Amino acid sequence: MTDHQLLELHGVSRDFGSFKAVDGVTLTVRTGARQAVIGPNGAGKSTLFGLLSGTLATTAGSIRLDGRDITRLPVHRRVGLGIATTFQHSSLFLRETALENVLLAALRRSGAGLGGLRPVRAHRTTVARAHALLDRVGLPSRHDTPAAELSHGERRQLEVAVALATEPRLLLLDEPAAGMSPAETARLTELIAALPGDVTVLLIEHDLDMVFELADTVTVMHLGKHLTTGTPDEVRASAKVQAAYLGSVEVTS
Ligand code: ADP
Ligand code: MG
Repeated sequence: MTDHQLLELHGVSRDFGSFKAVDGVTLTVRTGARQAVIGPNGAGKSTLFGLLSGTLATTAGSIRLDGRDITRLPVHRRVGLGIATTFQHSSLFLRETALENVLLAALRRSGAGLGGLRPVRAHRTTVARAHALLDRVGLPSRHDTPAAELSHGERRQLEVAVALATEPRLLLLDEPAAGMSPAETARLTELIAALPGDVTVLLIEHDLDMVFELADTVTVMHLGKHLTTGTPDEVRASAKVQAAYLGSVEVTS
């Protein structure tokens, strides 16, 4: 399975009016990859994740998961196929507790849906797993705290637990460390590094230390386009990448 391609994007584009936020991106992601997507603000990274998760419709091109065309599948079908996303802007249920947020995600994956609220407490295994996940992401004392009362960093941790509750094959993380303290970032980095090898991770991140610590592959986007994909060393050494970053962020870590 070493060279199996989980994701194949071919000429993927998203226009907003006459503006091309994502412009003809062709890219593959290997099963089990730890692949970072970097690029200056406005490069189209979050838009690309929207196209992968299904929250945004593609204007052109195709997206394949495991050889299957998912370009036009709605979000819930993609969740059912194992795509989980944490968004740059939180999508938690703020009035529900941390535990309830994780349980709702687990039920969504199992197809029960929000309308199918069978007695949640009866799902003993699901509940036990939800507790374990909250411990694992670093929220051992917050299981019964409403999401609204969590700190910013804790909410990001909860979002990761929510994503993992769907047992994803492909985990899309959009700036998960944004607003986290160094300690929280370090814990998150460890958590991602410790994910099972068959979970493929695509990570948008501004913290380049985190990128170069976690990623085996780095994709660089610029002005909606795919600029390059390579090993961390190749990307660090790339003149194209340095040019794209001039005046925004330093690529050297
Ligand atoms: P990144 O995540 O790389 O910072 P985004 O994907 O968020 O970039 O945005 C890429 C470009 O697309 C930006 O110029 C942004 O203003 C534009 N854009 C994103 N979403 C919309 C939208 N809904 N309508 C119009 N323009 C958008
Ligand atoms: Mg973004």
